[in-house]
Amino acid sequence: GMKPIGFVGLGNMGLPMATNLFNGFKDKADFIIYDINQTTTSNFLKDHNTDPNNRDKVKVAKSPLEVAQEATVIVTMLPASQHVEGVYFGKDGLFGALGEKHLVVDASTIDQSMATRVAKALQEKGAKAIDAPVSGGTGGAQAGTLTFMVGSNSNADFELAKPYLEKMGKNIVYCGTNGNGQVAKICNNMLLGISMIATSETMNLGVRMGMDPKLLAGILNTSSGRCWSSEVYNPCPGVQENSAATRGYTGGFGMPLMAKDLRLAVNAAVDTKTTVMLGAMAQQLYNQMAANKDYENLDFSAAYKWLSENSK
Ligand code: NAD
Repeated sequence: GMKPIGFVGLGNMGLPMATNLFNGFKDKADFIIYDINQTTTSNFLKDHNTDPNNRDKVKVAKSPLEVAQEATVIVTMLPASQHVEGVYFGKDGLFGALGEKHLVVDASTIDQSMATRVAKALQEKGAKAIDAPVSGGTGGAQAGTLTFMVGSNSNADFELAKPYLEKMGKNIVYCGTNGNGQVAKICNNMLLGISMIATSETMNLGVRMGMDPKLLAGILNTSSGRCWSSEVYNPCPGVQENSAATRGYTGGFGMPLMAKDLRLAVNAAVDTKTTVMLGAMAQQLYNQMAANKDYENLDFSAAYKWLSENSK
């Protein structure tokens, strides 16, 4: 039978990922979930235990410790390093019950050193631990088409994790030792953060010059300015039907999370004496938006809104 699966952190990404992981196996695994926000876990429970075939398959744990006591395969999807530290090493944390039978996947975007620390501590207890941050946004999480960037000291552990990751993603990429998944992710998101601001500036300029935004976006997307931010996640409201911009910048990838990722990139640049001029500028802008109460709860593509409101 299936090994019991644990999932900690059922937010914008975790909820659809957990849903795909649960639904992905024909033989349903016992599923033990935990989130400090009980609305997320009771929503998952409601969705799944209403199906008579799945009744009693899903259980909400009282703590991460309980997840580790009951599940042997565990995925965590948390906002930032401090939450990962708390869930793994805090009071009633996962760490207390982890051992040789466990395979643990942290899919959160955190700094390389925390990812390495988590992996080392778990491996010392005999558990298998990999970092597997993702790209593809909430749309990719729902569609099960995420890219996983996997850091693992052991290729065998990577292979063990793969069948689970394949239920949530399409591209499962081995990036080298523990922590290297985060290296790939942090670099990707520095580029994304910059390109979202660049796309926002471009769209805002075009609109203010009198051009129809849909027409402009269509031209960009068949021209050399095309990028993910212009084509898949256009920051100008109304350009795309299902974008965060069109639904008032709700859901999606929160401003504080993008500010965090740019901070990870800039910190890494300082540590490695690397020049990142646009990355540093982007970090400052996301910091300002994340610190503004009208923006802190919006999707990061609200950079467009910020620029248009500051262009008078
Ligand atoms: P989110 O804030 O929507 O979800 C995080 C969840 O973790 C929330 O439900 C929260 O209640 C829970 N949580 C926080 N602290 C906890 C704790 N101590 N114990 C248990 N649960 C706790 O964030 P998200 O958008 O789902 O992002 C999760 C991670 O994925 C972040 O590291 C983010 O950078 C990364 N990421 C996000 C996106 C995106 O588009 N949203 C894309 C790729 C990667």
